[in-house]
Amino acid sequence: MQTHNLGYPRIGSQRELKKASEQYWAGKLPVEQLMLAAKNIRRENWQLQQEAGIDLIPCNDFSFYDQVLDTCLMTGAIPQRYHALMAEKQLPEIDLLFAMARGCQTEGYDLTAMEMTKWFDTNYHYIVPEFTAAQQFSLVSEKVIREFSEAKREGLNAKPVLLGPVSFLLLGKEKEKGFNRLELIGKLLPVYLEVLKKLDDCNAHYIQFDEPCLSLDLSGEERRAIEKTYNLISQKFPHLHIILASYFECYGENLSTVLSLPVQTIHLDLVRCPSQLDDILATGFARTRTRLSLGVVDGRNIWKNDFRTSLALVKKAVAALGEEKIWLAPSCSLLHVPCDLDLETNSGSLNTEIKQWLAFAKQKIKEVVTLKELACSEVPAELDARWQENVHANETRRTSQLIHDEQVKQRMRTITDSDAKRYNGFDIRKQKQREALALPLFATTTIGSFPQTGEVRSWRARLKKGELTQEKYDELIAKETEETIRFQEETGIDVLVHGEFERNDMVEYFGEQLNGFAFSQNGWVQSYGSRCVKPPIIYGDVSRPVAMTVRWSSFAQSLTPKWVKGMLTGPVTILQWSFVRNDQPRNVTCTQIALAIRDEVADLEKAGIRIIQIDEPAIREGLPLRKDNWQEYLDWAVRAFRISASGVQDETQIHTHMCYSEFNDIISHISDMDADVITIECSRSQMELLDAFAAFRYPNEIGPGVYDIHSPRVPSKEEMVLLMEKAMAVIPAEQLWVNPDCGLKTRHWEETRKALTAMVAAAHELREAV
Ligand code: GLN
Ligand code: ZN
Repeated sequence: MQTHNLGYPRIGSQRELKKASEQYWAGKLPVEQLMLAAKNIRRENWQLQQEAGIDLIPCNDFSFYDQVLDTCLMTGAIPQRYHALMAEKQLPEIDLLFAMARGCQTEGYDLTAMEMTKWFDTNYHYIVPEFTAAQQFSLVSEKVIREFSEAKREGLNAKPVLLGPVSFLLLGKEKEKGFNRLELIGKLLPVYLEVLKKLDDCNAHYIQFDEPCLSLDLSGEERRAIEKTYNLISQKFPHLHIILASYFECYGENLSTVLSLPVQTIHLDLVRCPSQLDDILATGFARTRTRLSLGVVDGRNIWKNDFRTSLALVKKAVAALGEEKIWLAPSCSLLHVPCDLDLETNSGSLNTEIKQWLAFAKQKIKEVVTLKELACSEVPAELDARWQENVHANETRRTSQLIHDEQVKQRMRTITDSDAKRYNGFDIRKQKQREALALPLFATTTIGSFPQTGEVRSWRARLKKGELTQEKYDELIAKETEETIRFQEETGIDVLVHGEFERNDMVEYFGEQLNGFAFSQNGWVQSYGSRCVKPPIIYGDVSRPVAMTVRWSSFAQSLTPKWVKGMLTGPVTILQWSFVRNDQPRNVTCTQIALAIRDEVADLEKAGIRIIQIDEPAIREGLPLRKDNWQEYLDWAVRAFRISASGVQDETQIHTHMCYSEFNDIISHISDMDADVITIECSRSQMELLDAFAAFRYPNEIGPGVYDIHSPRVPSKEEMVLLMEKAMAVIPAEQLWVNPDCGLKTRHWEETRKALTAMVAAAHELREAV
């Protein structure tokens, strides 16, 4: 039996890569130092895996930015706009890579960055490859060969990891019409063969091909591309040991294709899909020579493995296939979990009781090795101290008072359908709200946050360090809030917000106030490039001990006769951006959060807040990878939102906000959420996103964003009027609001002032025209 790993976090246990890259970008670190920082991270990761006892260690899992972007460079899929820069400036590879990832504005060049999007159902973002009909490929970056040679020099049994060619094509997009990117496979494969030849020349034996597209619904043509690819590779390099890896879902409909491939090892994500082991064994798999890599340690979450469950799977596989044909591994790359639990030394909110239930990357590596030792030992596992510790930890988790809150469970049992329904339908609410709120046509509002200046952030840092008293901090926040209210009054905005100055992050702020959430000190996970996030850990039943936002919302409302909108993050988004407990279904945890938000909504209403926004930007990204599973997810996600929003009077107006494109395939569910007003990101798509709402005859009110808050550019009144006219062409005017695309947190005051002034002027012009 062998152990291997699919990939290790590359940010460094102290975020060394982030620090080095950002300094390099700022021109404060020479390139040699950046290279050294990277080399040290690789060496540290390799040593750690080797010392833990992993047999086969990944290389080329490191990246300065993103593994898909690395593959663009490897295959020469470099968009045309960078060619002149490459040719004239003789850019070193690293600078070309960063230019593609981040855009480039130097001496006469103004090149936009490549697009970024979420990696499957994770919160990691990859760079989207761009393909043209005449696309040519050639071996440009030899990074994989360099890293393999480096690993060999370090004396490792190393396994290069490559993003497979079919997934690479499917993850990209066509930059022009009239062709299908999959047709490029014939031109792409020779580059992969060239890479394999070079690796072969360096005596590589094992190669891991990641084809995570096998977790999606594939067409026949896409499956044939998979067959063609691996048949060709096996034909050219029959002596190489190819490991085919997919993760995050079952192979499902793609299973028979996968089983027919001439690869030596097939990796299974048995955390997401434990049942596929039986499916495979039932096919007569034992008669083949193929090995199975059992991904039994969760690479997506931070819970300690349950040895009882994992060992049962391993033993079943061993009984059917024999030890030699079984490999053990994490379920996917460990990129998605923090580096090292041992660094959590402060007893803060990760106390020792919670800590004993967790495992980060370094601990997960150890778990893989221990599982192998337990599985292969002559001595019964029960007698092993490591087994006993594991069983004990999992047992305390099952019964801990910290986790289980009888009151929450009791309340969950009493939820009825009427808790997920407003008293009356939108047509009745609409009339009552019109009378109660008396808002004009084309009412103007913003999405919630106002500029979080360095100053505002420094107050929070100083409060944490104890350099500011809570009293002083509150005073500063109050002053900033008041100035923002005055600014909105002067600008003539109709529905004001308090500005969210008291919040660090839209999930963390709530998590910190809810029971059942814990926070690590150093639990960073790469989000994209040098950006890392530190997701909260939901470990127990969720409840809300006291009101979370009433204080600042009612303070802001007390300053003005205009309506101030209360601001909450919705249950699905809080769930989606956290590490979620795995001892109950996600929808149960989501519903618990929904109840907590519902209580907050009720308290806001009681405090006189008449308009309440519940942000759900993450609803879409929570969609399962396979369409068959969408309905079930959408049913509980929409219900959770409705539970959070439905405890109020008809006169109280509920808003929601979503900032991603594409509503077409989920518009009926968006409509089912039944928010009185939805604000969406819309300006970059020139209002095209509204077509889905128009085609559906979406009945409630909509605020299509009229300007892009991701850019410092100040939009003119005229262009916003034009966008709204486009909106009016498909949605009746009386349903429309006027607002920016998203929160203004990352903008500066100067451009915010100008942009909102122009936005209000646009609304006035529209009102006069009707
Ligand atoms: N209310 C939040 C803000 O304005 C919404 C952020 C988001 O949609 N991601 O910042
Ligand atoms: Zn947004």
